Amino acid sequence: MRPARAYIGIGGNLDDPLLQMRRAFRALRELPASRCVACSPLYRSVPVGGPSGQPDYLNAAAALDTTLAPDELLIALQAIETAQGRTRTVRWGPRTLDLDLLLYDRLVLDESRLTLPHPRLHERAFVLYPLYDIAPDLEIPGHGLLTDLLTKFPQTALVRLDSAE
Ligand code: ATP
Ligand code: CA
Ligand code: CA
Repeated sequence: MRPARAYIGIGGNLDDPLLQMRRAFRALRELPASRCVACSPLYRSVPVGGPSGQPDYLNAAAALDTTLAPDELLIALQAIETAQGRTRTVRWGPRTLDLDLLLYDRLVLDESRLTLPHPRLHERAFVLYPLYDIAPDLEIPGHGLLTDLLTKFPQTALVRLDSAE
């Protein structure tokens, strides 16, 4: 079976976010029936939405070639979040790890459990910039070219970290 190309948005702001990101990249590389083909640099971002006063986030994106079905991949991503201590209390509240399925090929789905493309992907600089690093030519179904979306979001409140950090 031809693998699908999936893009994952990665974020976290609790319990040593740098360590959480490294563990997340490792877990993504170990997903069954999948090959991690690209990892973006890390970004530090100021929290958007959610309770005030939460710590800054680290964000990144990864590309996978996978023969997992979209719902299987979502379940696998949620298992990684749980393994890294993710709990859900306040909407958009602080978390150890958040793995969003941003895109799965050009699939468009509108279910509450899984919406594709991810419903808020096109309005978040902390998703668009790392995605651009690994897939500059991407077109987001329903939203156009990634490069055009980026022009709406100056890179404010978002700092790209050196790989040494
Ligand atoms: P946001 O969705 O705005 O980024 P969040 O990541 O904090 O917020 P979660 O609590 O992680 O939200 O997820 C809420 C629900 O979103 C999950 O139960 C999941 O089923 C659903 N969901 C729908 N589409 C997607 C998707 N593309 N990727 C991940 N989860 C999704
Ligand atoms: Ca999210
Ligand atoms: Ca999520």
